Amino acid sequence: MTMNYLSTRNKDLRMSAPQAIAKGLAPDGGLLTPAVLPRLPASAVETMKEMSYQQRVVYIMNSFLEGFAASELTAYAAEAYGGGKFSSEDIAPVVKLDDSTYCLELWHGPTCAFKDMALQVLPHLLTASLEKNDEKKTVCILVATSGDTGKAALEGFRNVDKTRILVFYPKDGVSEIQELQMVTQEGGNVGVCSVEGNFDDAQTGVKALFSDETLAAELAERGYFLSSANSINWGRVLPQIVYYASAYCDLLKAGAVAKGQTVNVCVPTGNFGNILAAYYAKAMGIPISRLICASNQNNVLTDFINTGTYDRNRTFYNTLSPSMDILISSNLERMLFELSGRDDKLVREYMSQLAQYGSYRVDSSIRTKLRKEFSAGCCDDQQTKAMIARMWSERNYLIDPHTAVAFHVLEEYREESGDDTPTVVVSTASPFKFCDSVLNALGVREHKVGLEILDQLTEVTGVPTPAPLARLKKRRRRFDGAVDKAAMKGSVLDFLK
Ligand SMILES: *Cc1c(COP(=O)(O)O)cnc(C)c1O
Repeated sequence: MTMNYLSTRNKDLRMSAPQAIAKGLAPDGGLLTPAVLPRLPASAVETMKEMSYQQRVVYIMNSFLEGFAASELTAYAAEAYGGGKFSSEDIAPVVKLDDSTYCLELWHGPTCAFKDMALQVLPHLLTASLEKNDEKKTVCILVATSGDTGKAALEGFRNVDKTRILVFYPKDGVSEIQELQMVTQEGGNVGVCSVEGNFDDAQTGVKALFSDETLAAELAERGYFLSSANSINWGRVLPQIVYYASAYCDLLKAGAVAKGQTVNVCVPTGNFGNILAAYYAKAMGIPISRLICASNQNNVLTDFINTGTYDRNRTFYNTLSPSMDILISSNLERMLFELSGRDDKLVREYMSQLAQYGSYRVDSSIRTKLRKEFSAGCCDDQQTKAMIARMWSERNYLIDPHTAVAFHVLEEYREESGDDTPTVVVSTASPFKFCDSVLNALGVREHKVGLEILDQLTEVTGVPTPAPLARLKKRRRRFDGAVDKAAMKGSVLDFLK
C-alpha cells in the first residue's frame, strides 16, 4: 500500500491511509495529512448533483482512501447515514433564508450536533483500518470533549466490536443537556468521566496520555492501544469535506447558483476542523470563494487571521457557545502546512513556539495567503443572544448559540466588505441542545428545570424537540466519575482493567 499520508512536521514521516486513521496523530506530534490533495474532475459537481448524500460520501472519500474498496465505503456510508439515523433524508439539508443566504443544517444526526457527520463514519473507517493493518490489539478511543464531540463519539462507537471508548469532559464547560447526554450513554464498551477545569485542561490531559510511554507499554501488555477520535484524526476531517461539496450540489440543483458560480461559507469555529474541511473542498475544486471564520469571545483565530500573530496568552471565557471555547485550535496546523507551501520545518518551528511561548507569528507570505482565503470576525454573548432573538422574530428560524455566532459575523462581514456573494452559513447544533441560552435570548426568564426545559422551548416556539433529546427522559445516569487533570491516567488504567 502506498505511504501517501505524511506528518505536517516531517514530510518524510509517511504512512498509508489505514495507518493514518488508526494512529490519529503522527509520532512526532504532527497531523497526518494526504501527501497529495486530489483534484475533482471538471464534471464532478454535475455528477454528484444527481447523487444521494451517501453516494456523494463514496465519491469524495474514494479519492483519499487507497486500500479501501468502493464497495466498503458504500457499506460504511449506508451504516453511518442510512437506516433512519438522521432525521432528514437529505442528511445535511440546505435551508434558504433569502436569495443570498443559505443555512447548511448539520445537526440532524443522533446527537443533534455536527460532530455526528464525521463520528458516524469514523468507527467504520477505523475498525476497517485496524483489520487492514493486521492489528491484534483492541483500540481504546480517548476523547477530550468540549461537549458535542464526546456524545457523538460515544454514539458512533457504541458497541462497535473490538473498540472501547473513554470520554473526558470539562466540568466547567458543557451544558446540562450535553452532560446528561453523556452520562446516560448506553453501550458495553463506553466510559465517561468529568475533569476539573475547562476544555483546554481536558485536551492537554488527553494529549499527555497519548505521549506517555509507560502507559502505552502497560496497556499493550493488557492487549490495548490508544487512539484519538478528536478532530485531528484524518478520519474526522474527511467526512466533513463531503457536506461542503454536497451543499454546493444542492444549491446548483435548486438553481440558486449557476454552474461554476462561487459561494462563500461562514463557519462557527473552535478547533478549526469544520472550516478546514471547507478549505479542502475548495482546494479540490468546489467553487468556494471566501472562508469566513466566526469565533466567540475566545477570538484567538480572529486575531490570527487579521494580524498573523497567534497568541493564546489571553483570558479564557466560558461563553454561550461552549463548543468553541478553545484557545488552541489544533487543526490550524494543517492550514499552516498548506499555506506555507507544505513547509514542514516552518510548521515544526511555529508549533514549538506555540508550545514554548503560547504564541507565534507567521511570515508575510503566509499572512498574505491567509487574508486571501479567509475573513474573520467574533461575537460576544450579548450579540449572540441578540442574533438568536432577531432570527426568530424576523425570519421565524430558531438557531443555537454557535450558529448565531456565525450569523453575526456574516452580518458584520457583509456590512464592512459589501460582498453580496451567496453565502452558506454552517449550522452546527440543534437549538434544543442549548435551551437555557435560547430561552434567555427569546426573553423567557423563568426556566423549567432538567429535561422539562425541552418541552418549554417547544411551547414557546412551536418547534418540536428532536427525538434523540426527547428520549433522554427515559434514560438513567450511568457515570458520575470526576477527576483532576493529574488523575486522568488512573482513570484510563481503571477503565481498561
Ligand atoms: C465542535 C463544534 C464547533 C466547532 O467546530 P470545529 O471543527 O472545532 O471548528 C462549532 N459548533 C458546535 C455546535 C460544535 O459542536
